[in-house]
Amino acid sequence: MNCQNCKTITEEGYSLCATCELRFAGTLLRLARDVTPLHDSLDATLHPGGHSPTRIQTATPPTPIRLDVLDLIDMLDATARELWHRLDGIDALDWRKDKRNEDLMATLIACAGHPKLTTVADAGLYMHVINDLARKVDTVLDPPEQRREIGNCELCETMLTAGAADQWVTCPVCGREQRAQTVKLRRLKTLCWDDSERGSAADISKAFAVSGLKVSRKTITTWEQRGKLPRHADGYAYCDVYRLLIGPDLTKSVR
Ligand SMILES: [Zn+2]
Ligand SMILES: [Zn+2]
Repeated sequence: MNCQNCKTITEEGYSLCATCELRFAGTLLRLARDVTPLHDSLDATLHPGGHSPTRIQTATPPTPIRLDVLDLIDMLDATARELWHRLDGIDALDWRKDKRNEDLMATLIACAGHPKLTTVADAGLYMHVINDLARKVDTVLDPPEQRREIGNCELCETMLTAGAADQWVTCPVCGREQRAQTVKLRRLKTLCWDDSERGSAADISKAFAVSGLKVSRKTITTWEQRGKLPRHADGYAYCDVYRLLIGPDLTKSVR
């Protein structure tokens, strides 16, 4: 059998491979952790700042409740309960037989740890729906200004954005999931291996910072003043800055 999510070969009787099972369970647990911040985000007069609960927005909005967040919680609740019924073999039409009176958070955690999570026939479909909801929750909890562009999708070239703590990003256009670090490094590689890529000191500093390389704007202009770094009509070459940045260490380690 093939994993319904990533198409690698899985054991007979399993709808998801071990890697996708871990990620599916991880997403469910992450959503369980997000239930409280989500409820806090309902109040439109007080912006708790989602994953960073220190920011407060005092302006009075037109409605006291954020309806988009309410809809999202409803959708998450319905999906989590449906998944639980599916896992526990309760017929969807017979849902009244479900005597559990668990809240959303407990239901999500129960699903994540359910032994049938990967053997249920449509696990891949549920993983897809849950990933989609998780992405929407992230958008509510991490306001767009906290997410930044990290590089292009490996499949469709769409610019992807991610929060600082995101390990995985899902392309909003083609749905491809990819590791955030891989996207960042690929971007850095394209920038540094193509010697026609130019940018201002600020552009380069920002692009490198996203990939985890620290070089300040000031350092770049100082290099130019000292004659180490040529400045072209359209800016500095990323590859020149990159070579200066890693160069000294490389020569040291060769010696
Ligand atoms: Zn898989
Ligand atoms: Zn894509």
